Amino acid sequence: MRITRISSDLLNVPTGKLITDSTHSLENVEVVTCNVETDQGLDGFGFTYTIGTGGYAIKAALDSIFAKMLLGSNAEETDEIWARMWKGTHAVGRGGITTHAMAAVDIALWDLKGKALDMPLYKLLGGSSKAIPLYDTNGGWLHYNEEELVSAAVEAAERKFHGFKLKVGKKTLAEDVARIKVVQAAVGKKMPVMVDANQVWGKRGALERGRAFQDLGVYWYEEPMIADDIWGHKEVAASLDVPIAVGETIFTRHEFENYLKLKACDILQQDVCRVGGITEWMEIAKLAEINGVKVSPHFVMDLHPALVASIPNGLFVEYIPWLRKLFKDPPRIADGTIFPPEAPGIGLDLNTESLEKYAAQ
Ligand SMILES: [Mg+2]
Repeated sequence: MRITRISSDLLNVPTGKLITDSTHSLENVEVVTCNVETDQGLDGFGFTYTIGTGGYAIKAALDSIFAKMLLGSNAEETDEIWARMWKGTHAVGRGGITTHAMAAVDIALWDLKGKALDMPLYKLLGGSSKAIPLYDTNGGWLHYNEEELVSAAVEAAERKFHGFKLKVGKKTLAEDVARIKVVQAAVGKKMPVMVDANQVWGKRGALERGRAFQDLGVYWYEEPMIADDIWGHKEVAASLDVPIAVGETIFTRHEFENYLKLKACDILQQDVCRVGGITEWMEIAKLAEINGVKVSPHFVMDLHPALVASIPNGLFVEYIPWLRKLFKDPPRIADGTIFPPEAPGIGLDLNTESLEKYAAQ
């Protein structure tokens, strides 16, 4: 099955409300789609996203580098193609723009493989159709006041979500503590409450707040400081008992391996659209498994269910429904769980109006 054409589109998709954490503020995400055509008449669909910056650069990388590099390649050779994309951009890429573009291509190739074999992605990857527990992030933004947080947390509990995450990084420790306490009181002891600092602190701040969060019994403490500071994470992880979750800002198996070797984290959150697609995501999940670490991926709740259903060390999928409206038949949600699609390939097709409605200007 030879690749005859690769094309892409850039979409600008509203989140539906203001989103804030300690580091970001956004009302739109960008989506770069990728369509791979073959000489067998089958097309594969893939995509990647940004939180508002970099979409044009990703599309340019996809169109000007990978679309040309892969013409005539055998679309079924996903490992070989991934390695060629990685080596072909190593001097100018590694993590970031290039791995985002690689992800869109790689996902499209897995979609093609599934369509060619008439098999859903989770089956291709050796997984099962099991229900994956969801935890809610979409109700815990940093600008929400305590009343809004409590109302969202109660709603998450009523919808039977398996956890609720709130953003931390208020000016004072007392404010963060108060917000966690009201959420915990609202949802009761059974529902895990996670906190996410989005890399806001240095090591001293990460430790000071982390001790307080630990005393409150939070389920995990996410991105306490800049993701590039692996040694700082090692010290924080060694000093605290609360599990440290990282991965949304880590881009390659090599970086993840360093985190694991140094025991600098406890839960990995690799994001399929940031690490270069399904091929690399599965490599990182395997590394985590070897090191006794669980995987709870960041965002992309439309594609991650099939991946988490295909590994023995998966934990949750993160409920943030911004991309859901793009797809004809997004993954089924019931009782706080989400199911991998049963349609061949990744099981995600864009709504016919999505391309026009959200086309970036
Ligand atoms: Mg996060």
